[in-house]
Amino acid sequence: MADPGECSIKVVCRFRPLNSAEVARGDKYIPKFIGDDCVQIAGKPYHFDRVFQSNTTQVQFYNAVALKIVKDVLEGYNGTIFAYGQTSSGKTHTMEGKLHDPEMMGIIPRIVEDIFNYIYSMDENSEFHIKVSYFEIYLDKIRDLLDVTKKNLSVHEDKNRVPFVKGCTERFVCSPEEVMDAIDEGKSNRHVAVTSEFAHRVPSELLVLMGSASENLLTAITLNAKPLPLLDTPTVKFFLDDAQLTFVSICLCTSDMNEHSSRSHSIFLINIKQENTQTEQKLTGKLYLVDLAGSEKVGKTGAEGTVLDEAKMINKSLSSLGNVISALAEGSSYVPYRDSKMTRILQDSLGGNCRTTMVICCSPSAFNDAETRSTLLFGQRAK
Ligand code: ADP
Ligand code: MG
Repeated sequence: MADPGECSIKVVCRFRPLNSAEVARGDKYIPKFIGDDCVQIAGKPYHFDRVFQSNTTQVQFYNAVALKIVKDVLEGYNGTIFAYGQTSSGKTHTMEGKLHDPEMMGIIPRIVEDIFNYIYSMDENSEFHIKVSYFEIYLDKIRDLLDVTKKNLSVHEDKNRVPFVKGCTERFVCSPEEVMDAIDEGKSNRHVAVTSEFAHRVPSELLVLMGSASENLLTAITLNAKPLPLLDTPTVKFFLDDAQLTFVSICLCTSDMNEHSSRSHSIFLINIKQENTQTEQKLTGKLYLVDLAGSEKVGKTGAEGTVLDEAKMINKSLSSLGNVISALAEGSSYVPYRDSKMTRILQDSLGGNCRTTMVICCSPSAFNDAETRSTLLFGQRAK
């Protein structure tokens, strides 16, 4: 068993490069990097366990941040990796990246590969059972991304008082491909499940795609209810990737800032059980991989109804996460896990027998100056 007394919380910071729109606008690049653990914004230093500059590659980031956690989870520790930051700061790039691109894939597909490489390297006396769950928390409701009929799951405790999401799909997987299939499925469900929630908003621009995401087939496109010429699918996919829009069977896209995926927390859980059939030694470890909702403040003007509810809920859950992490970092005797659903669920992967890493994702543009400072301060609180 892993040593239960050992608990470590790491906070690392990653800056993305300026994007093409920011470059075209002539935005100033504001971070100044000092060594490999400090970044200065307007002369004020912010210290972390590591700071990653904009040119850090996906594999460099993985090796520096996630590799060790995978080893620990395979040794029976629990772990959690979070990505925190405003929308468009690089959270999903960091956690998922381009899922099927060996160079551009993020930490989740790399973790999956490494877990199975480890399994394949073991002798026949080692037996592994791997299962994954994938859910999101939106407006404080837990929605199963591997079964869209489960829209409001609750958190229960097992007989050892370990919290878990009751009824959430647990899919047994035997290969990296099966895990990636589950992720692809969950991501497409994420979009489908939400269509109805967008319906009552009045977006400034409404792009509707009709077709099948799974078959990459497009039958119609409309923009603000006017039909557009039917582009070929690769062109549309390129356009969608680029514009960061959402591709679903029926897809309603508003501005980036309102995009559903940035207003919900997505949580991918990998559970690993191993048993040595000769010695009967057993190990279990689990790893939560969390792509948090965008941390940006919603402007006071214009936000009402669902948008305001979303903002309140996100603020509440992110601040309770911050409180839990800082209580753990301070070694406080009281840790307010029960203040939000997310911290309850993650409870046994944040304290005690655990490895926790918070990735603070930042935009380097002067345009996002205020959000970047508030993101950096959130990360500092956890130190
Ligand atoms: P978020 O999930 O925080 O909203 P994304 O991960 O979707 O943000 O990133 C926004 C855009 O910036 C995406 O097009 C992504 O590919 C790009 N991007 C983010 N981080 C990096 C990086 N470190 N290097 C290159 N491109 C990045
Ligand atoms: Mg994202």
